Amino acid sequence: MKKIDLRSDTVTLPTPAMRQAMANAELGDDVFGDDPTINRLEEIAAQKLNKEAAVFVASGTMGNLVALLTHCGRGDEVILGDKAHSFRAEAGGMAALGGIHPMPLANQPDGTLKLDDIRSAIRPDDEHYPKTRLIVLENTHNACYGTPLLPAYMQAVFALARENNLRVHTDGARIFNAAVAQNVDVREFTQSTDSISFCLSKGLSCPVGSLLCGPRDFIAAARRNRKAVGGGMRQAGVLAAAGIVALETMIDRLAEDHAHAKYLAEQLADIPGIDLDVDRVKTNIVFFDAQPNVMSAPELRKRLEREGVLILDTNATRLRAVTHYGIERADVEDAARAVKKVIGNL
Ligand SMILES: *Cc1c(COP(=O)(O)O)cnc(C)c1O
Repeated sequence: MKKIDLRSDTVTLPTPAMRQAMANAELGDDVFGDDPTINRLEEIAAQKLNKEAAVFVASGTMGNLVALLTHCGRGDEVILGDKAHSFRAEAGGMAALGGIHPMPLANQPDGTLKLDDIRSAIRPDDEHYPKTRLIVLENTHNACYGTPLLPAYMQAVFALARENNLRVHTDGARIFNAAVAQNVDVREFTQSTDSISFCLSKGLSCPVGSLLCGPRDFIAAARRNRKAVGGGMRQAGVLAAAGIVALETMIDRLAEDHAHAKYLAEQLADIPGIDLDVDRVKTNIVFFDAQPNVMSAPELRKRLEREGVLILDTNATRLRAVTHYGIERADVEDAARAVKKVIGNL
């Protein structure tokens, strides 16, 4: 039975063109700055995001950690969302490894932080308090239904940061999904953040890697922090080769994933026993709830697995499905049919 794997866009496999490019990549020792393929990927990424420089890292988590270690010293405070990936899902790395103090604020349903909340969270200059140093935004917002932040919102946060001498880092794991969904150039976002990380290994389908982009001196300092966390890789051009293919050919197709997610949402919303607000689905992430009197989310996940459909349960009622390269409209139809069958078979 063919498995329809909607657990995450991280399950994507490299394309044939990527495998070819990886096999043929020119390599060197990247810690010595000698890997031409890594150097080229970093140049392309910096240029695409309109930043001075970029550094290749092993994962989105490493990109965020290295960014925070570079922006903040021990005891410095970071304002971020309580549903932010960097707060919830990165093993507390900022605190464990950087002595950085998180100041979580309520994420609104659209993934934003209220400007007033940010304003009141900024610490006055008083020896009792940690020093507020950084604001972290997430675009698209994974836990908030994959909602993309608007360029105007990012501008407003950036202006507030500047008024208060703070820096902004954006966890842009899916920043190209945000750009494609709103039909804007990614620069519309990146002009309103000091640094940004994005993943090659999600919808862009690479096997491994993320890039952290920002000002030249920031990226130079980030390289030292990447080394400190064990992220200095040697002939990493084998990975970067796939990244170049991704940035050159895999961005526009994200629109297909968004269309498939919307279609899946429409199909699921029609199933009695499933609650889902189709309007909230704006990119490639679909959250939906199983009504508790019908079936628990873990039970629904288990039964779907027997039908060859893999999704994640995120709590007792909620499930998440993510569309990506390799998932076609027919797969989405089959997945929705499986949900209907499993729920109808009670
Ligand atoms: C996936 C993800 C990350 C981390 O990426 P990994 O490569 O899995 O470490 C960071 N932020 C967001 C919003 C993500 O969705």
